[in-house]
Amino acid sequence: MNPTLPMQILVLNCGSSSVKYQLYNMADETVLCGGVVEKIGQPDATCTHIWGAQSLSEPVQANDHTRALAQIRDLLLNPNRGGVQHADDIAAVGHRVVHGGETFVSATRITTGVERQIAAYNALAPLHNPPNLTGIQAARQCFPNAIQVAVFDTAFHQTLPEHAFLYPIPYALYEKDRIRKYGFHGTSHRYVSHRAAELLEKSPDTFTGITCHLGNGCSITAIQNGQSVDTSMGFTPLEGVPMGTRSGDVDPALILYLADQKGLTIAEIGHLLNRESGLLGLSGISNDLRELESTTDPRAQLAQTVFAYRIRKYIGAYLSILPPIDALVFTGGIGENSASMRAHILQDLNHLGIVLDPERNRQLDGEGEISTPNAPIRILVIPTDEERLIARETLSAVKEQND
Ligand code: ADP
Repeated sequence: MNPTLPMQILVLNCGSSSVKYQLYNMADETVLCGGVVEKIGQPDATCTHIWGAQSLSEPVQANDHTRALAQIRDLLLNPNRGGVQHADDIAAVGHRVVHGGETFVSATRITTGVERQIAAYNALAPLHNPPNLTGIQAARQCFPNAIQVAVFDTAFHQTLPEHAFLYPIPYALYEKDRIRKYGFHGTSHRYVSHRAAELLEKSPDTFTGITCHLGNGCSITAIQNGQSVDTSMGFTPLEGVPMGTRSGDVDPALILYLADQKGLTIAEIGHLLNRESGLLGLSGISNDLRELESTTDPRAQLAQTVFAYRIRKYIGAYLSILPPIDALVFTGGIGENSASMRAHILQDLNHLGIVLDPERNRQLDGEGEISTPNAPIRILVIPTDEERLIARETLSAVKEQND
C-alpha cells in the first residue's frame, strides 16, 4: 500500500446471484461509486453503476462471480465513472460474511485458514456463506494485491451471555455441535447503535437501547453499554419476529406435525417457513409492506397486525432484561420508511415510557427523532449503512495489521 495515497476500500456483498459493491475513499469516508451486478449465471445479467449524481445500467457477461467482479473492476478502474487509476489504489476489500460462528468476534484479515473456518460454517448458513466465499475467491483474482478482510454479521452478537445464547435443549448439542443462538444483522445493529450514541452525545460503549432492523429480514437487538446482550434471530435467521416471507418464532412441534400428519418433507417445511410465511403467508398477497399498506384487504390488515404485535412483544421482553434504556431505534426498509407501521408497533406503550409523537412520526424523512419532547425513552429512526461500517472495520483490520 502506498501510504501517500488516500486509502480506497472496496466493500463487497456477494449473494448467490448478485454482487453489490461500494468504493470508499477512507480519507473522508466518501462513496466514490457503487452498484450491483444481478442475475449472475443468467444470460440477462445486468450491472447498475452509480457515481455522484450519475448512473448507468447495462447488460453484462457474468457467467460466474469472477466474471461479474471483472466487470465491476473495469468500472472501478475508470476515473470518469467514479473509479480509481490503478487496481492497486484499492488497498483493501471488505467482504460481508454472514456466519462467523463462535470463531470470529471482529473483522478479520482473510487467510486460507480463515477461509477454511468460514467454509466450516457453510452448513449453518447454506444460502449465504458459500456465495460469500465465492466472492472472496473472485476478489483475490481481480484484486491480487489488496488485503481481503471479512466482516461478519454474527460478530456483534458474540457478546451475548451464555444464558441468552443457549437453547434449553440437551447441553451436548451445544458442546458437540455448537447449536446455540448466533444472531444476525450484527453490522446493521452495531452501525445504528453507534449513530444513536452520536445523536445522543454519548460514547457508543455507554449506549443502552433496543434496535429494530425491519426490512425483508427483521431482527430486534437488546444493547447494554454498547454490547449486544440478546437478539431475536437465532441459530439461523428464521427465529424471532415475523419477516417478509419468514415465519419467525413458531412452536417447534409444528414442524413435527407438518412432517408426521401432513407428510411434508424437511425441504418442504423449510420452504414453507422461509419462503411462504411472514407477511406473505398471512396476507396471501405480498411480502412487500408497501403493497399491503395500499390495500384495504382484511388479510393484508391482519398480516400487519400480527407483524406489529409480535415486534411489540419483543420490545417488551427486551425492556425487561435491560436497565433503563436511552433509545429505541428503527432501521431497515420498513423501520426507516413506514410511519404507519412504526405507529402500529408503538401504540399504547406510553406506560413504558415509549411515547410516539404522531406528527413527528408522519413528517419524518430520513434520520430523526419521533418521540414526544419529554418522553423518558427517545425513539429514533436511523437509516442503516452496513457498507460504511464494513469499510470502517476493514480499515481498522488493515491498520491493526500494519501496527
Ligand atoms: P432487505 O432486508 O432486503 O435489505 P429492505 O431493508 O430494503 O430489505 O426492506 C424492504 C422492506 O421495506 C419491504 O417490505 C418494503 O415494502 C419496505 N419498504 C420500503 N420502503 C417503504 C415505504 N416507503 N413504506 C413502507 N414500506 C417500505
